[in-house]
Amino acid sequence: MGRYKAASLAVAFAMFGMGSEAVAGTCLEVTLTGTQGGPPVFQGQAGSGTLVTYGTEESNCRDVLLQFDTGRGTTQQLSKIGVPAGQVTAVFFTHIHSDHSEGLADLMQLRWHFNSAGPKVDLVCHEDAKSPAGHTMSCPNYAVHIGDALIQSGEMAQRLAENPKRLPGGPADLLNVMTFGPSQEPQVVWQSGDVMVSAISSRHVAGHASYRVDTPAGSVVIGGDAGNDAPAPPRDTSTSAQVELLAQDADILVHSVIHPVMGPDGTTGFPPPIYYRQSTATDLGSLAARAAVKNLMYTHLIPPLGAPRQGPYPLSAPLTEADYVGSARDGGFEGDVVVGTDLAKLRLTVD
Ligand SMILES: [Zn+2]
Repeated sequence: MGRYKAASLAVAFAMFGMGSEAVAGTCLEVTLTGTQGGPPVFQGQAGSGTLVTYGTEESNCRDVLLQFDTGRGTTQQLSKIGVPAGQVTAVFFTHIHSDHSEGLADLMQLRWHFNSAGPKVDLVCHEDAKSPAGHTMSCPNYAVHIGDALIQSGEMAQRLAENPKRLPGGPADLLNVMTFGPSQEPQVVWQSGDVMVSAISSRHVAGHASYRVDTPAGSVVIGGDAGNDAPAPPRDTSTSAQVELLAQDADILVHSVIHPVMGPDGTTGFPPPIYYRQSTATDLGSLAARAAVKNLMYTHLIPPLGAPRQGPYPLSAPLTEADYVGSARDGGFEGDVVVGTDLAKLRLTVD
């Protein structure tokens, strides 16, 4: 444990000594654009996504707009907070499970419709990764085929006939795909001015990555659906050692969460292998405490607040906000906890 801690701190200093000095008048805002856990639908919640914006108070923190995952309904949620599709600077995928990625199609179709003149959107994601089952998880393929159904239906040709200034290849032409390879140490994968994004590989499905954004107004880590490298007990924790490394001293940690009531000791019948590949609310509380994180934002809640069931798996009683916060406290975390609902947000401001 001692050696691991020393190594983490050395990496942390190497990473964050790079000039994220606080700058007066700047701000960082983190908005949960969708908090649904997994493919089910519940009361109109959007699929998984987090908007991180940075800027000045005059720009409403919106000089740089970074969208982490684009689940179902992302475009609608962005419209509720006044973010047009054409304004998103870059999209980052933690992994290409549909509940984290399917909203990119309509976001990009809308952008192609009205913003074909550009700029392009950086799509930052893991390079092709081979699954143990033999198939390949491919973000580049996802991107290049993002408009295919509408090309095949004739819709794209129809819209081009109406306005030939649109890009001929459809919305894929507006994506600038930037891939990175696997790494067990944080690596810088995107940078613009004072905003730096680092990634680390973490376990969930092949190609899963977690991210950290460092700005002069603060830092946020997006854990995605990361779980422990050991896919099932016995193990010390359900959380990811890589996320813990990335999250050292972060102002905000946004992480997918599963409540222990979904575990094999409970009554839901939820499949244990799917339970084990998520991080539990209690273990995330412990991780946040060890990493000295200031604010913990639970998202991708399994189960959602108030839900009678998670997909086909019934609960004996719906969970409340207090159930999730209580788990974080059980894990030893004493900082602020946000139990994610759509459009919950935190803003950090430097006076
Ligand atoms: Zn997910």
